[in-house]
Amino acid sequence: MKLAQSYSRLGTETAFEVLVRARALEAQGRKIVHLEIGEPDFDTPVNIRDAAKKALDEGWTHYGPSAGLPQTRKAVAEYINKTRGMNYAPEETVIVPGGKPIIFFTILALLDAGDEVIYPNPGFPIYESMINYAGGKAVPLPIREENGFDFDPAEFERLLTPKTKLVILNSPANPTGGVMADATMERVAAALKKFPGAMVLTDEIYSRVLYGGAHRSIASLPGMKERCIILDGFSKTWAMTGWRLGYGVGPKWLIDAIAKLATNDHSCVASFAQIAAIEALTGPQDAVVKMVAEFRRRRDVIVKGLNAIPGITCLTPMASFYVFPNIKATGLKSKVLADALLAEAGVACLPGTSFGSFGEGYLRFSYANSVENIETALASIRATLPKLAAPAVR
Ligand code: PLP
Repeated sequence: MKLAQSYSRLGTETAFEVLVRARALEAQGRKIVHLEIGEPDFDTPVNIRDAAKKALDEGWTHYGPSAGLPQTRKAVAEYINKTRGMNYAPEETVIVPGGKPIIFFTILALLDAGDEVIYPNPGFPIYESMINYAGGKAVPLPIREENGFDFDPAEFERLLTPKTKLVILNSPANPTGGVMADATMERVAAALKKFPGAMVLTDEIYSRVLYGGAHRSIASLPGMKERCIILDGFSKTWAMTGWRLGYGVGPKWLIDAIAKLATNDHSCVASFAQIAAIEALTGPQDAVVKMVAEFRRRRDVIVKGLNAIPGITCLTPMASFYVFPNIKATGLKSKVLADALLAEAGVACLPGTSFGSFGEGYLRFSYANSVENIETALASIRATLPKLAAPAVR
């Protein structure tokens, strides 16, 4: 028996593979610091957990509408309107199991074979995987350190063609922690006016893990609301990765198409989880504020520590819980160094190339771990690197 040919075009997320290898080493008795996986190490705030328990007891245990419960869609629309200065209606929202399905469903709903999709590289690996799987043409938009991990709008303009069906943007970004500058956003919106056939998927899953300034969505720019679908969710902001809860917000024709895909795929998102989601969106936000303050403290520790290691330089990201240090001076390829750090230093991290070819020369560390563990990892990298790196940095 053989799998379908399309399956060979499907990529994956290396973080889960590295986690398995790290766990195998731990089973042999090795101590590993986990800086590979992108999930907050905090528990879901107690008010949200209580809301889910109450919803279970109240009987929210049945199927609901595929697009989401009306009260949850209303809460999502109000939240997006408040945080982005917009005016969406509940019918312009769809609740899905995590932020990820919005990538999957948007691409399935929009793409015909050969359609071009511009996507950030390095970027979340599922973009490229899904574009290829759906038979689209993946057009990488380089995200460069010299631009502060933004992209060059002139480079973006050169990639747009009449065949561009979708542009994927991610700000704040994984894996770099970069935030799109207002000027970049405005240039993108202006350039898209000449290409009316292109939609924008704006992945804003890290919108609340921001260390300064207010989050801005490209959907709020004049003329962009009808062109954009916003992806956001509960995983990162309220430490709810295992709940599988996210949403898309955009024009009704696309939201309806996604809801129909949802009917074919998972029918609906767990009803009690959707009731708890309303508490997350509308209840007290102090747990989020505390979590982001703690991430900021850890960011400062890891950035300072990495910059003190010969051969490594690291920008200070303004958002997310990732750093993307430059390791070019070590003379080692990203994958070689990431593998060696796991095997020799007991530090699990990801090669920049897990996020696309433009990630060569970088590693990604997730600092969703305690300051104590981050310091252990930094000391171990510092001690191990001279044994691995080129003579110039020993
Ligand atoms: N988008 C980006 C940029 C991410 O980093 C992630 C998760 O790591 C997701 C989407 C998916 O989030 P979820 O776990 O809610 O599906």
